[in-house]
Amino acid sequence: MDEALRKRLIEAVARTVIANAEELTQLDRQIGDGDHGLNMKRGFEAVLETIEATAAKPLPDAVKAVGTTLVMKIGGASGPLYGTLFLALGKALPETPSVSILAEAFAAAVEAVKARGKSQEGQKTMLDVLVPVAAMLRASSGDGEDLIARIRATALESAEATRPMRAIRGRASFLGERSIGHVDPGARSSALMIAAVCDAVGG
Ligand code: ADP
Ligand code: MG
Repeated sequence: MDEALRKRLIEAVARTVIANAEELTQLDRQIGDGDHGLNMKRGFEAVLETIEATAAKPLPDAVKAVGTTLVMKIGGASGPLYGTLFLALGKALPETPSVSILAEAFAAAVEAVKARGKSQEGQKTMLDVLVPVAAMLRASSGDGEDLIARIRATALESAEATRPMRAIRGRASFLGERSIGHVDPGARSSALMIAAVCDAVGG
């Protein structure tokens, strides 16, 4: 993976988050405090400000640099959680990962988010996207384009599947039954980021 590809991937994720900030805010208005889009936008604008220096680093350091920026800039519940995701991913990645190494690294990063959030799949959070995507990556034998398309679809469908769930973690859990019927904002932002990576490597 060269510098141009690292830059393309980081840029794709950042621009997608920024372009969809209003939707994320709307989702967070339904079952939270309406700041998720703004939080994420602030974080990824900061990522774009230093993208040249970040992309010049080897993959593990580049991913960790994104994580550090997100921890500092996003805030809220999602800042430390996304920060943890990227920091743990950077820590687990080698400079040139195979698909199976990437799968193990991503799974380790998702475990770190669980530990940090004291949370797991089924609680109407970002983990309801991250966990199934990690499982699919791990189960794959690395069959290129088809895998990318399946991961993209799994991420987007898993976010939508949070709609009928009742929130057990995060601010939305304060609503109890009333959290049912809305897509979780963090699940949606995770899906958008994963879809952006899929588009950038596949398309
Ligand atoms: P805040 O809730 O502090 O306003 P955000 O609005 O930026 O923070 O992020 C909310 C999102 O964070 C939720 O939609 C959910 O996906 C995620 N989240 C909150 N708490 C947890 C947790 N304990 N574990 C995993 N994800 C969580
Ligand atoms: Mg919020």
